[in-house]
Amino acid sequence: MRDADERTIVVCFKPGAGRDFLPSVLRTLGIGGEPSPRWRWYDPGLLTVKIGHEVSLEMADRLRDRPEVKRLLLLPAGERMVSRRPGRPDSVVTLPNGAKIGGKSPIVIAGPCSVESESQACEVAAMVKDAGAGAFRGGAFKPRTDPYSFGGLGEQGLKCLARAREVTGLPIVTEVPDTDHLDIVADYADVIQIGSRNMHSFPLLFTVGSHRSGKPILLKRGFGATIDEFLLAAEYILLGRFYAGIEDPGIILCERGIRTFETSTRFTMDVGAIAVLKERTHLPVIADPSHAAGDRNYVLPLARAVLAAGSDGLLVEAHTDPLHAWSDANQSLGPEEFRSLMSDVGKLASLGLNRRPL
Ligand code: PEP
Ligand code: MN
Repeated sequence: MRDADERTIVVCFKPGAGRDFLPSVLRTLGIGGEPSPRWRWYDPGLLTVKIGHEVSLEMADRLRDRPEVKRLLLLPAGERMVSRRPGRPDSVVTLPNGAKIGGKSPIVIAGPCSVESESQACEVAAMVKDAGAGAFRGGAFKPRTDPYSFGGLGEQGLKCLARAREVTGLPIVTEVPDTDHLDIVADYADVIQIGSRNMHSFPLLFTVGSHRSGKPILLKRGFGATIDEFLLAAEYILLGRFYAGIEDPGIILCERGIRTFETSTRFTMDVGAIAVLKERTHLPVIADPSHAAGDRNYVLPLARAVLAAGSDGLLVEAHTDPLHAWSDANQSLGPEEFRSLMSDVGKLASLGLNRRPL
């Protein structure tokens, strides 16, 4: 991922510290205060510096002791916050209903592509709960490729999701489209989703990561993004977490298919990415066979494939009346198909395939 001898130091300053002290801080690390590609300043108080081995642990400690420094992180050579470190526990996200993502058995997060009404949200939530889903997912703010497509019910949709949670007890997962809507989405959601198209919105990643709610974040892989780029997007969220002093990473990565020359499926599910991600990061990894397939007939085979590859769970589009879903009708599973998927998940879960390599 990076030069073997390059380490990174991340320094969070106390509120109101300003940046007058920056040149002297940088001098402590052996670099001058003038602009350089080695350091980056995030307003209002976060500094990242790429350092070599000439910076000793004692120098980092001296910096940590400065009165304007709130916290400091020294990343070992070649590592990022997102990196999996042997001997350190992998992170697990626990939802308010006790369901775990990254625990022993895979979770299924399911629901309609978009929330259409309170009754639709409640009916679909009851249907997926009865079949064994651990969380309910529905879109209230839908980023759409076609500007004339249905864009979601907005806040009204969030209220429908809240009602579905009240009725079923399932935690809700819903997408934040941009920073302007973060507060309102965080007020309702149990897990904040960042969609594939926003994986490259770096200020959004940082801002959601540092949001005071500290809510778990489900980050979908950009469909044109490499695994490295996906991990670096998660790193932006972790940088936000560090800045806000939120210790629990609370991030779920979601592989959702990448764009290739193949058009028979909507995207191409990158099954190998599941294995690579589980080796390279401590974060839980789930997969979305619905958007990868684009066709309900292929959702089950892809779901089996990603679970066999070690996925910690699935994100699946399901609907009580799939043919009439307001968005992504082609790929939405009906009640029968969803129950069949859940039965396959149960069988594969018993094999414990989502354990990570040692
Ligand atoms: C979604 O999950 O609703 C969605 C639109 O998926 P993606 O961001 O992966 O395209
Ligand atoms: Mn969809």
